Amino acid sequence: MENILNLRREELAKEISPKFRADQIFQWIYQKGAKEFEEMTNLPKKLRKELAERFTIEVPRILNVEVSRDGSKKYLLGLEDGHTVESVLLPMKGEERNEKGEIIREARYTVCVSSQVGCKVGCAFCLTGKGGFVRNLTPAEIVGQVVAIREDNGIPQNRRVNIVYMGMGEPLDNLENVAKAVTIFSDPYGLSISPRRQTISTSGLAPKIRKLGEMDLGVLLAISLHAVDDKLRERLMPINKAYNIESIIEAVKEFPIDQRKRVMFEYLVIKDLNDDLKSAKRLVKLLNGIKAKVNLIYFNPYPGTPFQRPSEERVRAFQRYLLDHGVLCTIRESKGLDISAACGQLKERSSECSL
Ligand code: SF4
Repeated sequence: MENILNLRREELAKEISPKFRADQIFQWIYQKGAKEFEEMTNLPKKLRKELAERFTIEVPRILNVEVSRDGSKKYLLGLEDGHTVESVLLPMKGEERNEKGEIIREARYTVCVSSQVGCKVGCAFCLTGKGGFVRNLTPAEIVGQVVAIREDNGIPQNRRVNIVYMGMGEPLDNLENVAKAVTIFSDPYGLSISPRRQTISTSGLAPKIRKLGEMDLGVLLAISLHAVDDKLRERLMPINKAYNIESIIEAVKEFPIDQRKRVMFEYLVIKDLNDDLKSAKRLVKLLNGIKAKVNLIYFNPYPGTPFQRPSEERVRAFQRYLLDHGVLCTIRESKGLDISAACGQLKERSSECSL
C-alpha cells in the first residue's frame, strides 16, 4: 500500500471521486494530525474504507530526542525499513507579547530535514558522508519529518515554520523527491509552508542547480562553499573535482531568486585552513555580482577529525572584512552546538544540520 504522504493534492484528487475530497483529506492529515482514515468524519464511510484499503498514513517514528541548552532539538527518526535519519528543530524567535499579555508576534521555528539515508558526496568534515550512501528518501519520508516534529512540539498549523534541506544527504542528488516535498509542504490545504520559506542547501552539483532553477519552484538556495580555492575545496569536498568553484558560481548566477532574497553561501571556518583574510578577500571577489549572504560556521571538532575550531577573533575579523567590502555576512549562532553541528555532522551520536 502506498503512503498517502507521497502524493500531491492534485495526484490524490485523480485517485478519488469526487475530487474535492482531496482537499479535506489534506486538511485532516496535515492540519488536524489524523493518523487513520476512520478519523476523517466529514468523508463518506465508503470513501474512508476505500482509502484505508489503498493507502497508509505513515509518519517517521521518533526514536530519540536530544535537547540542546539553547532549545534546539535533534531528532532520530525511524523509517519503515528500519533505517534512521536525523532532523533538527531550531526555535528561531520566541513569542512576543504586549503589556496586556496579547501575542504580538508568533514564535518561529526552522526544521532542518534530511533528504537521503547517508550521502554520496563524502565531505571530509562530515560524519554522514563517512558512512556512505544508502538510499534516497521518499517525498513522504521528507514531509513526514516535519509532520512528526510539529506534532511532538504541539506547533499549531498557523505557526511559522521554515524548512532547510540541510540534514543528512545531498538534496539535489534526490531532486525529484525533494521538489515534490517542496510542493506538498507548500499546499494551502496542508502545511502551507511557502517555497520562499524553504531553503535547499547543496554541496554544489552545478548541473542540478541549473535544473532546480529551471523548475522555478521559488525555493531559496544555499551553497556549501567552505573554501575559495579549488585545491582546498577538493580536499574538503571531493565533489569539487567534478564541479569546481567556477562552475558553481556560474550556475548560481543563472538561478532565479526572489528580488528580496539572497543566495546563502555557507562557509565552514576551519582553523589555519580557510580562516585568513586572504581567503576573505578571494571570497569577496568570487561573489562579485551575486546577491549573496555569507554564513560563517565555526567548525565543530568531533573525535578523529584532523580539523580544528577557529578562534573567535579570526572569525570576527573574517566577517568584518566581508562586511567592509559590501558582502552581507553572519556568524552562525551556536544553535545546537552542544548536541552536534555542520551539514552531515549530525549523525553518529547518531548524524547533522547546519543552520
Ligand atoms: S556535508 Fe552534506 S553533502 Fe557533504 S557528505 Fe555530509 S551530508 Fe553529504
